[in-house]
Amino acid sequence: MYSSFLIKYAEIGIKGKNRYLFENALVQQIKYACKRCEGDFEVRKAEGRIYVDAVSDFDYDELIDNLKTVFGISGICPMIQIEDNSFDNLCSVIVDYFDREYPDKNKTFKVFARRSRKSYPKNSMELNADIGEVLLNAFPELKVDVHDPDICLYVEVREKTYVYSQIIPGPGGMPVGTNGKAMLLLSGGIDSPVAGYMISKRGVKIDAVYFHAPPYTSDRAKQKVIDLARQVSKYSGPIYLHVINFTDIQLAIYEKCPHDELTIIMRRYMMRIAQSIAEETECLGLITGESIGQVASQTMHSLACTNEVCTMPVYRPCIGMDKQEIISISEKIGTYETSILPFEDCCTIFVAKHPVTKPNLSIIKRHEHNLDEVIDDLVKTALDTKETIIVKIEK
Ligand code: ATP
Ligand code: MG
Repeated sequence: MYSSFLIKYAEIGIKGKNRYLFENALVQQIKYACKRCEGDFEVRKAEGRIYVDAVSDFDYDELIDNLKTVFGISGICPMIQIEDNSFDNLCSVIVDYFDREYPDKNKTFKVFARRSRKSYPKNSMELNADIGEVLLNAFPELKVDVHDPDICLYVEVREKTYVYSQIIPGPGGMPVGTNGKAMLLLSGGIDSPVAGYMISKRGVKIDAVYFHAPPYTSDRAKQKVIDLARQVSKYSGPIYLHVINFTDIQLAIYEKCPHDELTIIMRRYMMRIAQSIAEETECLGLITGESIGQVASQTMHSLACTNEVCTMPVYRPCIGMDKQEIISISEKIGTYETSILPFEDCCTIFVAKHPVTKPNLSIIKRHEHNLDEVIDDLVKTALDTKETIIVKIEK
């Protein structure tokens, strides 16, 4: 029934002179989403609106599912376009539309007409009243309710006339590409994919780094992280995933530092390495899935110790969330099922039985000196041997 869609966007409407940059980024992201769907589409910007027109056969559900992944879209409105704007024709098309869309007529409605083409012989008020009357005559069970209608019928008279009444919610946020780039520390857990999703939702492009520790972590664990990155890339666009071999660094820490401090020292090295790749790739911040108090390495004391090595901002969008809240988002974005697969990530292999929960920064730093002789070389080798995988959704 529909081959055209009006795309509504909220926040980007308020960006003043930057508006066109935001609209262009949104158009580009919409095109990227359409490319993943069967069929050909035209995405066009006109009169402060964005429209998607299918120009071949296509799968409606697939298109809607994909548009729902585009940050910046607040609503997707399947609409009909009427070329012959004469009032009689307009009314007959609207009556047909209404009849097909709402088989049950025992409903209330209100017409929201807008006349952008000022030469049209009826103004908005007249259109509201006259179209309302035509509908009431055609379907006597209908009632008008101007305060809380079941159905809002939008009629926009432009060069053509657009009619719609459904608004399918989009994900909101801002189009990716409008707000710089950040480096996500992506593990195989539940939290970090959610963190990446949330920052990307604010228009930030993301790259990712995964620390893996073969043979202590398996290829399946690495594949799981690639799969998670792919699911996040549905929303964020292509992700450069840097895989760092962390084994030798972990073994050195294991050998030379107190075991109750392993996790903190290891996390400090993860942050240092992630930051170094981030600087090299023009990222403006790091992203982690940390949440206060979730585990020993995420107490306020531990986070302070971890953060101390960072010179760039670290964004932790899950920081104030309960596990259940994070899980709900991961279910919504489709990462949960993958995240709970049972493959070890490198943190779980080298964990102490009783990790410190209140690490003391000066003691941690003192113990880190135990690594002085080897660590620079190990970090350099880890960086030199990093593998970079471009992760994206293929059609
Ligand atoms: P997640 O569910 O995201 O794995 P978690 O609850 O397991 O988090 P930790 O293992 O303490 O928590 O990790 C905290 C954060 O550190 C993660 O959210 C992630 O951003 C980062 N991180 C942990 N392990 C790795 C890893 N192997 N590679 C990349 N980043 C990691
Ligand atoms: Mg983890």
